[in-house]
Amino acid sequence: MWRSESQNLMDHAEYITTGSSLRLPEIQQLKGLRKFDAERYSVAESGEAMWIRIPSNILKQDYSIFSAQPYIRNFDIYFPIFTGRLTQYQNTEVLSTGKVRGRSIHAFAHMPNSIDAEQPIYIRIEGPVQNPDFQTMLYEDFSVYENRLSLFFSIHFTVFIIIFLVNVILYYIFKEKSYLFHGLFQLFTTLSLYYFTSFGNRMYDMGRTFHYEEYQILALLFMYLFLYDYLKVKSKGILFRELYLGAMAIVGTSAFFILMTNHDQEMYFTAAITSLSYLFIFAATYYTYRNKTRFSVWIPFATYVLMLSSVLHTLSLYAFLGSSISIRLMVFTSVLIEAVVFTYSIFHHISDQQKENAFLKNQVNLDHLTGLKNRYYLDKYAKEKMMLLEKGGKSTSMIILDIDFFKSVNDDFGHDKGDEVLQELARKLEATFRKEDSVTRLGGEEFIILLYDSNLKTAELLAERARSVVEHTDFGLQRPLTISLGVAEKKPGETFNELYKRADDALYTAKSMGRNQVRLSREHTFTAFLDVQQEPE
Ligand code: GH3
Ligand code: MG
Ligand code: MG
Repeated sequence: MWRSESQNLMDHAEYITTGSSLRLPEIQQLKGLRKFDAERYSVAESGEAMWIRIPSNILKQDYSIFSAQPYIRNFDIYFPIFTGRLTQYQNTEVLSTGKVRGRSIHAFAHMPNSIDAEQPIYIRIEGPVQNPDFQTMLYEDFSVYENRLSLFFSIHFTVFIIIFLVNVILYYIFKEKSYLFHGLFQLFTTLSLYYFTSFGNRMYDMGRTFHYEEYQILALLFMYLFLYDYLKVKSKGILFRELYLGAMAIVGTSAFFILMTNHDQEMYFTAAITSLSYLFIFAATYYTYRNKTRFSVWIPFATYVLMLSSVLHTLSLYAFLGSSISIRLMVFTSVLIEAVVFTYSIFHHISDQQKENAFLKNQVNLDHLTGLKNRYYLDKYAKEKMMLLEKGGKSTSMIILDIDFFKSVNDDFGHDKGDEVLQELARKLEATFRKEDSVTRLGGEEFIILLYDSNLKTAELLAERARSVVEHTDFGLQRPLTISLGVAEKKPGETFNELYKRADDALYTAKSMGRNQVRLSREHTFTAFLDVQQEPE
């Protein structure tokens, strides 16, 4: 196991903190370096440098020196090289940018050959730094470890990129900004996570213009934007909204400064702001979950995992916790959990929304009281259908019907009873006509039925049947309820309104002839063979 070969150099180290301008010869002159003591703080502030001296004789050949702390990106390492006649200090290249075979976890250096074991090794790190941690590992083990990690990272990275692409594709399909923001969150998180890995190093070989913090703060900002839509912040209570916008503004401003400047403290600042943000984000999702059953419990769970790993990561950065590879792997894993859970949940969220939209869309076409199609539907779809049928050489007929003396139903039995009668009548009409025919409530107690592919004769028969059904139905009024109907067949080229006018005229005739009867549009009456008008009661 690679860890067994690992050796902690700090047990043998001495250190001193100086101004950042001191060079190696000056450090070599210094006496009285402090023994490195991780129990107490060994700190170099920003603008300072920490020099660490380690005896060479404790190191074996073929070892690599590396830092286990992710925030140590760069250090200078001076090996005493025996050149044959004299010993010279050689500033060896520190591999943190993956220039060589992609072998690095964090900053590390390979030990050169021919080290002078009598002379110490010097390491210089620019502040800020707290309790730096250097270890060695056999080069071979390092490779094995690296390869394992590389496999993990490759799979991990592939998953992230897939999730990013899935989110972008879903954005194009559903036109939901949430997806885009979540995709960008994933992208920037991935870039920040892989910044320090050998995998990332290869990726960044083209040249790093952004830093870890920049990716991280951008990811955070997109998380806020994503949740802004997703949690419907706009329609939340004023306190929630103000808090959310406030937090987003703070992160936005921070992002601006982090992107514009390049300060030593950026990493600490970003880590702190990220942790606090995730605490807040978790609270916000939990609050939303408690107040709205529609969101699954997975959303707060995902943000909880994010928050936990982010806080642990920050604590280890600030040296309150030991920095270990397990914390880093935990961060990776938690982001992966988040990615999967969120993508899945947004998908559900959107399909919920689509169902709701479809429902609402259908509601628009329906009459609330009777559940029949309404006038809107007639305007929007029925007219079009009628025109299409005409093109296909099929005839369409229209029946308009109105309840006789309906006012008296309301007067005698109350408005509620009137409503019940309308509902009952609607059911009778639906049962009388075919499903394809649009039975529509125009408003009040007036109904329109469009009979597709029916000529005047058929329409008249159907109208008569409806009249008879209604007359013989017991509506609980202690007297029969009757309807009057006007029928017209669409003439070629006739508009919907012209047809309606003729059917309405026929209805008017039916009313004035004594009600409870079917009347055909006068322009057709001469050609109709069948006359089934009822005698008025
Ligand atoms: P007729 O049609 O035979 O000439 O007489 P009518 O009494 O039915 O007259 P009209 O069609 O003008 O009356 C419409 C009445 O329908 C007036 C109103 O009280 C009632 N009405 C309209 N919409 C509703 C409704 O949604 N519910 C109930 N209960 N009554 C309604
Ligand atoms: Mg009426
Ligand atoms: Mg009426």
